Amino acid sequence: EGTFGGPHGLKLALHHPGEAVTDPDTANRSPSKAEEKVLVEFLEKFIPQGYVRTLEMKTCLYTNTPDGHFVVDYLKEYGKDVVLAAGFSGHGFKFVSVIGEVLADLALEGATPFPIGFLRADRFDS
Ligand SMILES: Cc1cc2nc3c(=O)[nH]c(=O)nc-3n(C[C@H](O)[C@H](O)[C@H](O)COP(=O)(O)OP(=O)(O)OC[C@H]3O[C@@H](n4cnc5c(N)ncnc54)[C@H](O)[C@@H]3O)c2cc1C
Repeated sequence: EGTFGGPHGLKLALHHPGEAVTDPDTANRSPSKAEEKVLVEFLEKFIPQGYVRTLEMKTCLYTNTPDGHFVVDYLKEYGKDVVLAAGFSGHGFKFVSVIGEVLADLALEGATPFPIGFLRADRFDS
């Protein structure tokens, strides 16, 4: 464990549901037996006899928006001077190249041809 050089196992993760926390310093970092059970049952369903033992479990934190979509917009208070990209809801990594293009468009051109209307920040205003 902790070194490269050979396969150690298979990584599985629970994306949702998760425990909502607002302060990383007070987050519960102890994975539960119930969470392990869900993962083991999933593995046994899709890779029968694939489970031997659990090597390690860890928690991770990431931002989630109420609708699971990103926020990509100008920061309202600053006109077009500040571009905001946040709330990637656990699936931002695979979009990083297109988000980079969008952010460059917004910062340099003041607009983007990509259809980002559904990612605007004010959709959560009540
Ligand atoms: C365990 C895990 C698994 C994931 N798996 C996937 C996946 O399979 N597919 C997928 O698409 N997405 C996945 N994601 C989500 C993806 O990693 C995020 O959506 C993406 O990294 C968010 O990008 P970001 O630039 O908003 O934030 P980050 O990548 O978190 O970047 C923020 C940066 O800002 C820096 N920073 C923070 N505060 C300050 C400060 N005060 N001053 C200067 N710098 C600061 C941080 O050090 C960091 O480098 C996963 C996330 C986690 C945690």
